[in-house]
Amino acid sequence: MAPATETRTHTVSAALLKAFTQAILEAAGASPTNAEIVAAGQVDAHLTGHESHGVIRIPGLVRDCQSGKLKPANTPAVVREGAATAVVDGASTFGHVGCKLATEIAIRKARQGTLGAVSLTRANHTGRMGEWTELGAAQGLITMVAGSRVNSSRGQVGGLLAPHGGRTGALGTSPISWAVPRAGGAPPILLDYATSAVAGGKLQVARAKGESVPLGWIIDSEGRPTTDVEDFFNGGAQLPFAGHKGYAMAVIVTLLSIGLSEGDLLDPSEHGSCLFVLCIDPAAFRPADEFARMVEDTCARLKAVPPAEGFAEVLLPGEPEARSRAERLEHGIPIPIPIWDDLCATARGLGVPVR
Ligand code: NAD
Repeated sequence: MAPATETRTHTVSAALLKAFTQAILEAAGASPTNAEIVAAGQVDAHLTGHESHGVIRIPGLVRDCQSGKLKPANTPAVVREGAATAVVDGASTFGHVGCKLATEIAIRKARQGTLGAVSLTRANHTGRMGEWTELGAAQGLITMVAGSRVNSSRGQVGGLLAPHGGRTGALGTSPISWAVPRAGGAPPILLDYATSAVAGGKLQVARAKGESVPLGWIIDSEGRPTTDVEDFFNGGAQLPFAGHKGYAMAVIVTLLSIGLSEGDLLDPSEHGSCLFVLCIDPAAFRPADEFARMVEDTCARLKAVPPAEGFAEVLLPGEPEARSRAERLEHGIPIPIPIWDDLCATARGLGVPVR
């Protein structure tokens, strides 16, 4: 018998999901360029196994377009620039669009010199951080992205991540990603996670599936640990990963992303997602082929470690995403039925035919 928590899914190809998502966004007022960038990012979130950053976000984004909070046809722009640095205004449009521009500028600056560091402010939801670090790694650059948001969905300044030992939320889930390029076109080494025990979107997914969550993910409105995901949505908060260690990293991510983008000066009614991107050319430090060899030697050493009991093999950071992408590109993307139904309802509301 199937486990009680199993959720039925609807399987779609990446191409169909992208076209459908793009059509919905355009119907909500997005320019074709913006719609294409957001749809590509959301589909890649599903391909890499992070459905919390996929089309589950569409109904909320469409509502924000309709309320005028999100400006779907705006174009982000550089507002300040130095030789290796820039500040980008996300123009209150989709966060994916600002993130892509900020990362492309950081890549260009690292290519021209050896480092590129760009901050982004006034962006909407910034998506899967690994999407941006993978862009840099694809150009041979070690890339770091730190993200945070000033205004939480509850309108509080600070957000829904409780500091270690705290009773209420005071930080965003403050994700961080690093990608290190590998030789021969292999997928990069990829660190990519929230500094909360899990990404906030995973709570939305658990809620949509009617599942409880493991102890250590959230606290209730009184600061008590709980497994009932509704406690989070009823005034609770998220917990940092690894206690004080995740908390400390969340503080640093917040200071880099919000601090270097002047996100703290935003009006509370504005979109408060901020990003900091750093691209480093390894060739500035040693011959590129020597660095590439060191990376490959390290990977080989890690892969050669015998698996512990209960594990089939040692994986490299980024391998789960790369394998999921390959598998789903071939066999399609399973979307949980509640998420698919919400997407279709949003499409119908905009007069977009369901595919
Ligand atoms: P997660 O807990 O799923 O961890 C993912 C990371 O762990 C990846 O680097 C992956 O390669 C690595 N990993 C997983 N299993 C592994 C294994 N067995 N061996 C080696 N490495 C392994 O991540 P999460 O915290 O749930 O975050 C999910 C996504 O949510 C991320 O893409 C993150 O950027 C995104 N996020 C975005 C925001 C935002 O505001 N935009 C906020 C929070 C999270």
